[in-house]
Amino acid sequence: MVKAVVGANWGDEGKGKITDMLAEKSDYVVRFQGGANAGHTIINNYGRFALHTLPSGVFYDHITNVIGNGVALNIRVFFDELNSLLQQGVPAPKIVVSERAQVVMPYHILFDQYEEERLGGKAFGSTKSGIAPFYSDKYAKIGFQINELFDDELLKARLENVCTIKNTLLEHLYRKPLLDPEEIYREMAEQRELIRPYVGDASAVLCEALAQDKQVLLEGQLGTLKDADFGIYPFVTSSNTIAGYGCVGAGIPPASLDSVVAVTKAYSSAVGGGAFVTELFGDEAEALRRRGGDKGEYGATTGRPRRVGWFDAVATKYGCRIQGATEAVLTAVDVLGYLDEIKICVGYDIDGTVVTDFPVTSKLDRAKPVYRTMPGWKCDILGATDYSALPVQAKNYVDFIEEFIETPIKMVSTGPKREDIAYRT
Ligand code: GDP
Repeated sequence: MVKAVVGANWGDEGKGKITDMLAEKSDYVVRFQGGANAGHTIINNYGRFALHTLPSGVFYDHITNVIGNGVALNIRVFFDELNSLLQQGVPAPKIVVSERAQVVMPYHILFDQYEEERLGGKAFGSTKSGIAPFYSDKYAKIGFQINELFDDELLKARLENVCTIKNTLLEHLYRKPLLDPEEIYREMAEQRELIRPYVGDASAVLCEALAQDKQVLLEGQLGTLKDADFGIYPFVTSSNTIAGYGCVGAGIPPASLDSVVAVTKAYSSAVGGGAFVTELFGDEAEALRRRGGDKGEYGATTGRPRRVGWFDAVATKYGCRIQGATEAVLTAVDVLGYLDEIKICVGYDIDGTVVTDFPVTSKLDRAKPVYRTMPGWKCDILGATDYSALPVQAKNYVDFIEEFIETPIKMVSTGPKREDIAYRT
């Protein structure tokens, strides 16, 4: 059985918590795309963790954690994260890293910084983790699969070629210090020894697991609206964040995917640039930001304040459809308990016409939200586990969203902890 846990929105929907919860019943947890440019926050009996690279199954000793071929692997970040887990008392997790996964090279991070600098005020708001330069190189066929790091001759020859290309840009476009292939070689020779014990044929491992009826959980990073094809291009990430890509990025057959759990948050949040139709500003935004998540809406990777807004049902209906969601989880419902009234965006007014289908970016920029206002429940439901006992206004809010997004909401998350969950029957 393969289940994917993915984001229906802009990321930060609380996938980490849901994955951590569902991981308990899984044998394998797989990261299939993206890199260390976003983080999951997980709170469990070992403490509070922001995972950027490691799969969320690392807290369970019965789970094999897989870094799939679709991931942008920063080997140094991988080890920093692993060491910090071990230091906080988590037993050494089982990890397999696909030999076909490509590595984030030191210069990818530099190019990410230089490009944001060059763009100045027009920058995308990159986390500067090297992800865009990494995927550009992967598809330009000048990237490095992990297995290639172990072939000295190939590594040296390819580095020579890459440095010729990169140094032209560094000299003439960015006016920055040039790369030295010898120095990069030494760094990568060190990195390959670190990763060596974990490298394997992840696709074969997972296919064998499926043949034995094991439970596999695919863990998405970010969400539909940051997908390179279906998101708010160009304010997207450089990989595909959707469940359909999960099979490619993990190396399993497309027909093996049994269910897709789309995680969506009871209000909206986003990081980086791009249109955000339901965005709030000023005091209203600050009131929500301060109460959001487990420590306010501030990025798990960057610490940046997140942009926040009302629940966008138009974007979420699209987000669920593109994910192929078989069910949804509505998280952080507890956060809204302070509000007298809650707004839900049920349409976009674009040049005087109201649409309910999520448009392409060029139209999205002109969209104005059309809201439906619902009464708030004005009480604290943090940690509630009995769905039937929730205030009727909260249940009405969930019912309305479920109908609009055309996806059954099976779980409602009422707090950041693993056990803060109410099942709907
Ligand atoms: P992810 O990348 O989708 O895993 O999301 P993040 O971890 O970046 O952000 C989600 C934030 O919301 C984290 O701080 C979580 O601890 C927190 N969180 C998850 N579910 C809930 C919930 O139901 N209620 C509250 N208050 N916080 C939640």
